Amino acid sequence: MDKLIVSLTIFVSVLFIGIVKQYIQYIIIRRNSREDENTLYLDSEIPNASALVFANKIIIYGKLGSLSEFAILHESYHLKQKKLALIQLAAVALFSALLPFSLFSLLGIYFSYVLTNWKIEKDADLYAFSRGGKYEARYKRPKSRLARLIAWLLDTHPPDYIRISEEYRRKNIYYLFIKDIIS
Ligand SMILES: [Zn+2]
Repeated sequence: MDKLIVSLTIFVSVLFIGIVKQYIQYIIIRRNSREDENTLYLDSEIPNASALVFANKIIIYGKLGSLSEFAILHESYHLKQKKLALIQLAAVALFSALLPFSLFSLLGIYFSYVLTNWKIEKDADLYAFSRGGKYEARYKRPKSRLARLIAWLLDTHPPDYIRISEEYRRKNIYYLFIKDIIS
């Protein structure tokens, strides 16, 4: 019984922290940025963008106009993925709450995050493509199978060479992963 209460407490805490963290980030970033509806513009040398899904804000770093249309469309779609983001957070919370804490729960935390993220990122990419956004790949498909596996698992987005492929728009992301690793 005690174990169940501890697990439940961890589960609820992870959910709570995951959501509240974004509001805190929003409050901190808001001080140094210009806010326009649900977009925060932050001065930065390196253009980038991210989304605070639960706080319903996207953050655009860099000089105005320096960021690609694709990136802005992609991030704006993340705000429409609250249900998926919540499922992702709940999966991470569930594995975090597993007792006893083990390698299995650690891998569970990691894979539940990465695997759901592929789906989240792909949907955001498809939205950006459908609005005419163009994605520019930063790297080519590695020849080594291990390097490809690492690209999939360490970059939370699907690898660049997948994102620009024609198949990416039609095929299931998990199918693309298996095909890329075994072929
Ligand atoms: Zn994204």
